[in-house]
Amino acid sequence: MIIPYGRQSIDDDDIQAVTEVLRSDWLTQGPSVPAFEAALAAYCGVPHCIAVNSATSALHIACQALGIGQGDIVWTSPNSFVASANCAKYLGADVDFVDISLATGNLCPHQLERKLIQAKAENRLPKVVIPVHFAGQSCDMRAIHALSQTYGFAIIEDASHAIGGAYCGSKVGGCHFSDMTVFSFHPVKVMTTGEGGAITTRDPQLAATLEKLRSHGITRDPSEMTIPAHGPWYYQQQTLGYNYRLTDIQAALGLSQLGKLDTFITERNRLARQYDSLLRDLPITALQQSDDCLNAYHLYIVNINDAQPEQRADVFSQLREAGIGVNVHYIPIHLQPYYQKMGYKQGDFPNAEAYYQSALTLPLYPRLTDEQQQYVVDVLSKLL
Ligand SMILES: *Cc1c(COP(=O)(O)O)cnc(C)c1O
Repeated sequence: MIIPYGRQSIDDDDIQAVTEVLRSDWLTQGPSVPAFEAALAAYCGVPHCIAVNSATSALHIACQALGIGQGDIVWTSPNSFVASANCAKYLGADVDFVDISLATGNLCPHQLERKLIQAKAENRLPKVVIPVHFAGQSCDMRAIHALSQTYGFAIIEDASHAIGGAYCGSKVGGCHFSDMTVFSFHPVKVMTTGEGGAITTRDPQLAATLEKLRSHGITRDPSEMTIPAHGPWYYQQQTLGYNYRLTDIQAALGLSQLGKLDTFITERNRLARQYDSLLRDLPITALQQSDDCLNAYHLYIVNINDAQPEQRADVFSQLREAGIGVNVHYIPIHLQPYYQKMGYKQGDFPNAEAYYQSALTLPLYPRLTDEQQQYVVDVLSKLL
């Protein structure tokens, strides 16, 4: 593959930041993790940030911190990576989906309202809703938040695609319309720590719970203990947690990457606008952009107009053969065998299914050159 669909941008200063940690006393549980968390919180304009080893772990403990367990119901978008739904299954909860808007690929607030009205009548309201900021553009959080006030559910934003983006004038991660926001630092995402994730929140109690869950359910804070500390060595395990810690090696990379995040976003937006204009005359539809959002542009996706499944597969294969690493986001979660075992079937979420049928993710990352982009457009134009 000559041109991947996404890839990291690592400079010498990123490498230097990592090697400095390798030469230091602390490979993990040192000063880099809190430094990264403080910088990320400041960037998002939010009081609390908890760094963890992946967005999957972040989603898991975010659900757990909200008390999700057996018998609870969690709703998310079917047009997402499976981790957005699996987090609730880890805790024994039931997962259901809210169909998307075809224009944006995001969870549709009107469908959400319709489903809430029905769920209320059936006494099956969700405890948590997890909107996914698809491809890097925020969901309509004002509308979703307003519904949460009426129907009494908590909100976890899955912003795995959207770090560096903004919504209604505030950075994604500010949690103005949610309880928590989750980020991913996998290398294909907008910024990276190799593997890694983070949770932001405005709620100090949630932050304290998340911090414990990240590290075995243990606290070393005397003010949180049930009895006076036996001595300076003393810690208490107060709940069942995990080892979901980020290393200092990763946090140093994250801190260095965070300093470049805005330039990554600018470059991704420039390339996206260029795709818009280069693809203008092709029989494709790009995702609709909202004036409320600065898109972080994790992904640039087009839908091939009126595509039959075979046609998309054909275009996909020919682009791959031409050395262009296209991809497809996403196979609707409810069509995965694991979820079909719970009774979900084809036809349950028609927009997500229709969207999937014609979607194609084109290469987009800050170091994609104008020449490479033109090559992608030229090959695609010939195929369509
Ligand atoms: C990548 C991704 C995740 C999982 O992120 P990891 O850091 O790889 O665990 C979760 N949700 C969405 C929407 C993603 O794209």
